[in-house]
Amino acid sequence: MDRVIVKKCDNYDACQDIIFDILDSYHLKIEKGTKVLIKPNLVMPKKPETAVVTHYKIVKAVVLYVENLGGIATIADSPGGPYQKKYLDILYKETKMTDACSDKTILNYDNSSRIVENKKGIVLKKLDIIEPYFTNDIIINIAKLKTHCFAYYTGATKNLFGFIPGLIKAEYHYRFKDDNNFSKALIDICEFIKPTLSIIDGIDCMEGEGPTSGKKKFAGIILAGENPYTLDSVAIDKVGLKKENCPIYNELAEKGMLNEIEVLGDNINLIQLKEAPTKDLSFLKFLPKPILRFFSNIKNPIPKFDGKKCVLCGNCVISCPAKTLKIEQKKIQFIDKDKCIKCYCCHELCPHKAVII
Ligand code: SF4
Ligand code: SF4
Repeated sequence: MDRVIVKKCDNYDACQDIIFDILDSYHLKIEKGTKVLIKPNLVMPKKPETAVVTHYKIVKAVVLYVENLGGIATIADSPGGPYQKKYLDILYKETKMTDACSDKTILNYDNSSRIVENKKGIVLKKLDIIEPYFTNDIIINIAKLKTHCFAYYTGATKNLFGFIPGLIKAEYHYRFKDDNNFSKALIDICEFIKPTLSIIDGIDCMEGEGPTSGKKKFAGIILAGENPYTLDSVAIDKVGLKKENCPIYNELAEKGMLNEIEVLGDNINLIQLKEAPTKDLSFLKFLPKPILRFFSNIKNPIPKFDGKKCVLCGNCVISCPAKTLKIEQKKIQFIDKDKCIKCYCCHELCPHKAVII
């Protein structure tokens, strides 16, 4: 039986005591010198109040808890863009991770990674994982609760995709184009990483065009659990999303990987989040492929680029797994529209909401 704790939290200034209570109840083995890796969602350099990233005050509370016990806290994530020192510097400042640190906390700038065997993997028999994973004793995964245009929902399990370095993430997207295979890859990553504890920042969530272009919505909850799958399952329920629309949930259910859950903590009134705009087509999968493709193009459209908002930063071009975008005549253009796999990485990583789906 997996234990999931759900706590009401009205604002980020009140989160420290709640985080301390949660961490106390999981009896983590942290003592003097224990190295603890704290993995927030830092998908792109955005301010904490945008609800794109894990709020730094939750990270700060975890850092303080770890350091009070004598542990050594490291904050690390590989964002959606390049995994380089200069970019990490911008990322940490913009997301205020710098404010989450004490003078003892380590902000990770080591951008090396290791390729490891993953024999038990369903689709990923080898994994490329960022270095801090290998140099820490305990992993505390701190996700942000958001809707997601490609994955439907992002929380504890999807947050572990940030253990894959920089643009290698785009390669994985390209290898596992459809959401079912991509879900298998996420399960492989989660089974390998096995975080000690996962926490979800659901105080300010994101609804609609998540994970970066949606609207902030207050839900006032913090959730925690040792098993990211069951934790996500509870989180999805609490914000009124539909588990059957979530490809990773369906994959886990099919594989019998969802344990019984005991939910502890506060009674929370349902906060309904608006779903991401793309539509699930699994109910049409019996149709012949050309017809399915026709519906898919309507329901899951090829992205468009808003020339008025676009500043030609090139993020979408470098992060496109299909390498099918270019900057030409001062605008973003497709090299070949048919190569677009509708992963919406361009939408996710555009800092100016210039990608329309
Ligand atoms: S254009 Fe956008 S949606 Fe299409 S493959 Fe590239 S990143 Fe993915
Ligand atoms: S669409 Fe967005 S990510 Fe792409 S170049 Fe324009 S501003 Fe940058």
